Amino acid sequence: MKIAFIGLGNMGAPMARNLLKAGHHLHLFDLNTAVLNDLATSGARISESPKHAAQGAELVITMLPAAAHVRSVYLGEDGVLAGIGAGVPAVDCSTIDPQTIRDIAAIAARQGVTLGDAPVSGGTGGAQAGTLTFMVGASAEHFEVLKPVLAKMGKTLVHCGDIGTGQIAKICNNLLLGISMIGVAEAMALGNSLGIDTGILANIINSSTGRCWSSEAYNPWPGIVETAPAARGYTGGFGAELMLKDLALATEAARTAHQPVILGAVAQQLYQAMSLRGDGGKDFSAIVEGYRKKE
Ligand code: NAD
Repeated sequence: MKIAFIGLGNMGAPMARNLLKAGHHLHLFDLNTAVLNDLATSGARISESPKHAAQGAELVITMLPAAAHVRSVYLGEDGVLAGIGAGVPAVDCSTIDPQTIRDIAAIAARQGVTLGDAPVSGGTGGAQAGTLTFMVGASAEHFEVLKPVLAKMGKTLVHCGDIGTGQIAKICNNLLLGISMIGVAEAMALGNSLGIDTGILANIINSSTGRCWSSEAYNPWPGIVETAPAARGYTGGFGAELMLKDLALATEAARTAHQPVILGAVAQQLYQAMSLRGDGGKDFSAIVEGYRKKE
């Protein structure tokens, strides 16, 4: 299948690689030419714009940082909607607010294009391994169309409901993730300063009631999980700036729903402080550095 893939960053590039491995023909576009050149060596076609990528494609996939990028990639003068054929399906895998994707989908529908949202969970490791979870907001028919392609990049595909509901699932999950990471950081730092071996503490937590993904698979304390960003100077994972964006999406959505998200608001401020210190580019688990004495 000819697939336009736009947005080839930490997540998009490995996702695109899995589609290439599965035998799909890709039309790639990103503002970063280095990543394009790298992927071109695997046989993909480089495009000059989102419009050019969408031309002749049988499916369009986007994986971009935030709502403003998604708007411009679909609706811009050289955007996807200027090049895509009528009836060609599209799916945005970025994490953005539910209303933006609903608005873009309504505009796309006017030219016979069905757009769904399918934000992901599983991080860069899941993107590389092809084991992402996709939370899909789409009609039942559109979900069936997307399923075989998403299955090449993920192992769990959940149909959450109509357009926008994938984003709702994603921002609720990340609200919890942002909070749970801070909880694990506090517990690990407290144990360390009170004098317990942090490896023993992590084992206890992971076989007790405090266990969660942040403690088990992604522990923020260095030396606990070999594959976690904590083991490589908090590089190459899920940037604190992106977590901050997701918490802002959650607190803003909560405001419109008149729903309190008290811990979420506190977590947002903690990641904001991390960003102010100049650490927004680090993995979000580096939040633990705010709880540790400098060595
Ligand atoms: P990233 O910043 O690494 O990559 C984004 C890519 O989009 C970059 O290569 C950038 O050059 C490109 N881009 C920006 N504007 C563009 C435009 N106008 N046209 C074409 N390309 C453009 O981000 P990422 O980590 O890959 O995350 C992408 C999305 O996935 C975000 O919404 C993020 O919240 C979500 N997400 C990330 C992770 C993670 O662990 N990194 C996990 C789950 C979900």
